[in-house]
Amino acid sequence: MTYQFQVDQLKELRPNIGWRAYEYQGTERFQEFEEFSRFCITNLEEFAKVNNLPPIFFCYDTDNTIDGKAGNSYGVPYIFLNRGIIDVISQFFMHHEAAFVDPEFNEFRAMREQLNLALGFIMFQQTSLFAFYHERAHILQMKREILKWKYFNQETKNLTERYAVNLQESIYCEKEHAMEFDADINAAQLCSMHVFQFPGTNGNEQHSRLLASLSVAGILTYWLYLCNGNYDLYFKRGNHPHPLIRAFYITDTMLRQLSLMSGANFDPAATLNSALRIVDALYEHQENHPIQAFFHALEDSGDEIEAFVNELIASCDNYPHLLRNQDKKPKALRLVTPRGLRYSRCKNRVI
Ligand SMILES: [Zn+2]
Repeated sequence: MTYQFQVDQLKELRPNIGWRAYEYQGTERFQEFEEFSRFCITNLEEFAKVNNLPPIFFCYDTDNTIDGKAGNSYGVPYIFLNRGIIDVISQFFMHHEAAFVDPEFNEFRAMREQLNLALGFIMFQQTSLFAFYHERAHILQMKREILKWKYFNQETKNLTERYAVNLQESIYCEKEHAMEFDADINAAQLCSMHVFQFPGTNGNEQHSRLLASLSVAGILTYWLYLCNGNYDLYFKRGNHPHPLIRAFYITDTMLRQLSLMSGANFDPAATLNSALRIVDALYEHQENHPIQAFFHALEDSGDEIEAFVNELIASCDNYPHLLRNQDKKPKALRLVTPRGLRYSRCKNRVI
């Protein structure tokens, strides 16, 4: 199904769900929008089939901010990503390609030549994948919360990220924090899996290591960007965790996942160091450098962040519809066998 077909169909089916479709034909970043929408549409077709969901619509919204939305309008599930997720973020990363001029990035530049792939593009791709997988996780949470699809058909639910306003909200919602955390972890794990799908990683340990650093750097930059200069941490407030706290646990999840996939040769601390050096270079000479906020938060509030995230993890047990709680189902079938009972042929009964 093409992007335009989805847009036309959704306009017809649900004209009033508060969105304005971005039709990117003829725009400067046509290729980025087109390739990414093709990936998302194909991915959602498979995802809907596996999870017994009706077709999920994927569309861009004309809003040029960084935001996304997952929703269900009377049985029609949809994901909207604001065009800023492609336009603004791709511009940011591509604009900073020159950050890799320093000799410490020699290996990265050599890989860029060999793969013929802009380093900024790799980071951009990880962030757009993250935004997509995060919203996709919300769709599954919604379906599992409602349990019976017939109820799903009776109400409209909408989860908007509203990244820009989260920082001002005050009323704490544990359930929404848990849902955001759950969607973040799912997206971080899936993004990590994409690291080894880049061309040139197969059997090439050096490229895999460099791509892992770039991917972590991209996601870290994205979350620092979403702080929008507001680095005063909050804990139990609003419906989303503070973007800086999200930066910590998302990075941590990626490093663990990459480590699991790479085996003994993967060094999580070295990968984080390398990612931080990249973020540092991207923001060089900028006042109120976000990486400074990262280190301050780690030094001043590291224990508090850890305690908060651990509490968040524990609170997830209260919400069975979360993706992480589905993993508790048995890994393999184990038959329950009767104790002390057998079937007697001559008596033709159980004795
Ligand atoms: Zn969310």
